[in-house]
Amino acid sequence: MMLLQESLLTMTNLVLFGPPGSGKGTQAAFLIDKYELIHISTGDLFRYEMSHNTKLGQEAKAYMAKGELVPDSVTIGMLRNKVEKHPDAKGFIFDGFPRTIPQAEALDALLFSKGTEVSGLISLDVGDEEIVQRILLRGQTSGRPDDNDEATVRKRIAVYKSETAPVFGYYAAKDKGFSINGLGTIDEIAERLSDAVESIGQD
Ligand code: AMP
Repeated sequence: MMLLQESLLTMTNLVLFGPPGSGKGTQAAFLIDKYELIHISTGDLFRYEMSHNTKLGQEAKAYMAKGELVPDSVTIGMLRNKVEKHPDAKGFIFDGFPRTIPQAEALDALLFSKGTEVSGLISLDVGDEEIVQRILLRGQTSGRPDDNDEATVRKRIAVYKSETAPVFGYYAAKDKGFSINGLGTIDEIAERLSDAVESIGQD
């Protein structure tokens, strides 16, 4: 029991949330440096698997190309494997996960089994048109096929609204949902994010 309490107190597990193109990856890089957390981006993991042409990568490819979510069964298994690879982590930053309620429930169960929990979810708020412009601009250099086609980008936003946005309410109901303005310079947003993380830390 004592051990359980200690790990609850010492681990920080953040969910970086928001629509595609809201700056989660950029801001995660800043949080890793500052808080020494393990960054897990399910989008990056899928792209790694695809670039190595693994079975998992082949399974994910068609969904990603269409701007749809990879099925929960595949995604949750991949996430679990990645978390298990870091038994001594001080905590995690989950970026692009959970994206559905079943994923959120699976994450809670996984962390609970390790005597810890999600500390807080922070949403980067950015409007639709800003997102479309940002992603198409990123597409000029990212090499990501799903960043290059406006219809696919709009599909990803629609999927975010219907399947992913409810995850905010799921954590808000547990008093763990926070939102910050995702517009401004990288430094301005990083400062807002820092303030949010500090306020979570004081809970
Ligand atoms: P991202 O890099 O987070 O924008 O993710 C790119 C694509 O990978 C998404 O459009 C989905 O097809 C897939 N993907 C990433 N994370 C997840 C997830 N948690 N659940 C389902 N699909 C995901």
